[in-house]
Amino acid sequence: MKQETPFDTVLIANRGEIALRILRACRQLSLKAVCVYSEADRGAPYLELADEAVCIGPAAASASYLNTDALLMAAEATGAGAIHPGYGFLSENAAFADAIAASGRVFIGPSADCIRTMGDKIAAKRAMISSGVPCVPGPDDALIGSADDIAAVAGDIGFPVIIKAAGGGGGRGMRIVRSASELVGAVELTRKEAARFFGDPTIYMEKFLDRPRHVEIQVICDKHGNAVWLGDRDCSLQRRHQKVIEEAPAPGIDRALIAQIGELCAGACRNIGYSGAGTFEFLYEDGAFYFIEMNTRVQVEHPVTEMVTGTDIVAEQIRVALGHELSIRQEDVVCEGHSLECRINAEDPFNFQPRPGRVTRLALPGGPGIRVDTHLVQGYEVPASYDSMIAKVISHGRTRSEAIERMRGALRQLKIEGPASNGPLHASLLEDPGFIVGGVDIHHLERLLKERG
Ligand code: ADP
Repeated sequence: MKQETPFDTVLIANRGEIALRILRACRQLSLKAVCVYSEADRGAPYLELADEAVCIGPAAASASYLNTDALLMAAEATGAGAIHPGYGFLSENAAFADAIAASGRVFIGPSADCIRTMGDKIAAKRAMISSGVPCVPGPDDALIGSADDIAAVAGDIGFPVIIKAAGGGGGRGMRIVRSASELVGAVELTRKEAARFFGDPTIYMEKFLDRPRHVEIQVICDKHGNAVWLGDRDCSLQRRHQKVIEEAPAPGIDRALIAQIGELCAGACRNIGYSGAGTFEFLYEDGAFYFIEMNTRVQVEHPVTEMVTGTDIVAEQIRVALGHELSIRQEDVVCEGHSLECRINAEDPFNFQPRPGRVTRLALPGGPGIRVDTHLVQGYEVPASYDSMIAKVISHGRTRSEAIERMRGALRQLKIEGPASNGPLHASLLEDPGFIVGGVDIHHLERLLKERG
């Protein structure tokens, strides 16, 4: 039998804080790390830490970080036997995973088939239903047929409903429908948007939940059929579907129910032959969980899980890609204390406009229970070309209130001058009575921002 391709060098097909995070994990495992960069990222400080750094093209992501050919050429030139996609960019692109495999390299993530299934929300829903994972009420079929057929589907579910693109992502291609009179127009419009944005007009319908929380389960699986779930996270504080503060565990939810859902997620992974890290995203309302989607990659908010479980999720992803068995068993997973993550963006804290620029002063927080994941150093020029997230401040405490108190202290120590930062927004959210009690719904932050005008 052909041996699994072994590798001693990982190419990191990403940039910024997650590139540095992956680089650190490679070092932990005594692997060589190759970084790639676009012309906009030339001279970025984290590149100096890599064994090699290769320019893969101009600033536009389509010509660099999304350029499969350039990434494979960089892997070829540097002898990288594996590619870690990080999050965003090509991380959930099945064709990229296929191209890497075809080049004889290892994609650090699940199989292309698993990525494809989870990238199609109808296929994902079917896979979940067959594993007993609870889904949002509604058919696991594409929405087709006459206006009467569609009205009948909505009638069965009960208004309000949401029409969603099967191939959707990034919070786009969704439309809420509150009454029968809006239905046909909404279906047509969403179908057109789905075709335009995602190249696939397939849409489906499900119940719209009015005030859910966003609660997710982290999983990690190896290629030997082992799957464990590493607890839960609450990511309900969102603006325009973008998470702002995340925490682990989700406050105020029955732990026995979480354990039941976690076991179902791990079971679903075994059923579909999933390997690597992944996240099952749920809406949680009135004491019940409803699956919405699975992310087949490491997530921005993975550190809060690392803080409470003591597991290095990125190192574990790489170990799995090397063909090792998981280093943890389910019975070893213990969640201790509480962790929060504030996403620091180079943006105006009040009008949210991106405000990149050169970092003229930088002071990062520290002390017990504080971790900062960032690629910033003084003098670094935050480029305008990419996502505005420049740092993640993570706190851990024995209790949720200790984690909050430590985060408050960390934000007071954090000084970033040059680019704008949303630090002041985070500081005010940590004083919000709703957040302090815990368990707010996904509309809470937008409501707060509206009240403030
Ligand atoms: P995407 O892949 O675009 O992120 P998701 O399916 O994860 O799409 O949904 C994104 C967001 O849309 C959710 O976090 C939630 O805020 C909202 N949403 C999706 N489905 C529903 C639903 N059935 N009821 C209420 N809100 C929903």
